[in-house]
Amino acid sequence: MTKERSAFAEVNEKVRQASEILGLKPGLVQALQQCEREVVVSIPLRRQTGLEVLTGYRVQHSSARGPRKGGIRFHHEVNLDEVRALASLMTWKTALIDVPFGGAKGGVAVDAKSISDIEREEIIRRWTRSIHHVLGHQRDIPAPDMGTDSRTMAWLMDEFHRLEGFQPACVTGKPIELFGAPGREESTGRGVAMIAAATLEKRNEKVKGARVAIQGFGNVGRFAALVCHQLGFKVVAISDITGAIVDRKGIDIDEIINYRNVSEIPLYENIPLHEVLEQRCEVLIPAALGGVITSDNVEKINCEYIVEGANQPTTTEADVELRTRGITVVPDILANSGGVMGSYFEWTQNIQQYSWPIEKFRKELDARMSRAFADTFKESQKHNVDLRTAAFVLAVQRVASAFSLRGDLV
Ligand code: GLU
Repeated sequence: MTKERSAFAEVNEKVRQASEILGLKPGLVQALQQCEREVVVSIPLRRQTGLEVLTGYRVQHSSARGPRKGGIRFHHEVNLDEVRALASLMTWKTALIDVPFGGAKGGVAVDAKSISDIEREEIIRRWTRSIHHVLGHQRDIPAPDMGTDSRTMAWLMDEFHRLEGFQPACVTGKPIELFGAPGREESTGRGVAMIAAATLEKRNEKVKGARVAIQGFGNVGRFAALVCHQLGFKVVAISDITGAIVDRKGIDIDEIINYRNVSEIPLYENIPLHEVLEQRCEVLIPAALGGVITSDNVEKINCEYIVEGANQPTTTEADVELRTRGITVVPDILANSGGVMGSYFEWTQNIQQYSWPIEKFRKELDARMSRAFADTFKESQKHNVDLRTAAFVLAVQRVASAFSLRGDLV
């Protein structure tokens, strides 16, 4: 196995490459690579088996373009390096889609599947109590990510409310009944599907009947599957950690959408989990964990396009190999940016105390996603680079000018 870089080093390598293309000075590049603030807290949790002390994180990467923004994940592999990488990615994602936010990320190292609802509530309340002094609707705004959901955000909002007063815009991805926005929950998956369609159309390829394989059946994969199905794609394979199914004639997504786990879905052929990534298809959507397409499995990838629903699913080595093989990768900071775009809509509605109908939400989302796609594509032609490099060049340039215009050091 090749030695691959840490997640944060991988992001910083992309920032370095983009800075080189832009001719940025070394001091500025260093400022763009470093995180502004890192908070690490311990979260004691009383469990039936005894006291367990978990570790929680909030990393604020940049506020150059606005309040820091990014999700909080509950996952047993969460660590400081990963949270730094994801916080940095949020800075580039928000800049690329041109919303007035910086970047941040949070997490708690805990196996999300092994905790009860009561424990989940206790963990997020503890996390909020320890970190609230650096949060707020104009400072840093969390949102759901892996292992957390709208209910978790409701508890976060409630805890923040007790400490700092009423401020619904302090967190996004809330339940609709509690200042959430209709359309936010589906927005990441919807954005992934729209970007997949835009990619094919740009290459004059037909969306109707194009085969899609999706790894992940959580918030991102599930809605990506649904919207791909609605757009006319043929979803041929789906997996989650419990199972994988395949149907070369196309899976009826409307029928399976409400199953919680893929292993519970009847009537479809089961395949080993890893084979979903290896399916012959036009579009492969990794929408689960990071680091799933590596130098170990890259030669088995059998698609024309990869649309990154997850954050950092492709390692740099694998990315290079895919490019040599002529496979186009639509990078995470573009492909999955529908989530934070939706969060931006929710945040603005909370601040204005005004709510949009879902039709307006979807129309704005689709229009802004297609603008971000067109901008990235144009940038890739301008510099004659791949889409990931182009996305980083655009984003880094925007953050670098905001940082420089503020006049801080550089
Ligand atoms: N967790 C999502 C992401 O990685 C959404 C973040 C947000 O809405 O702030 O993009």
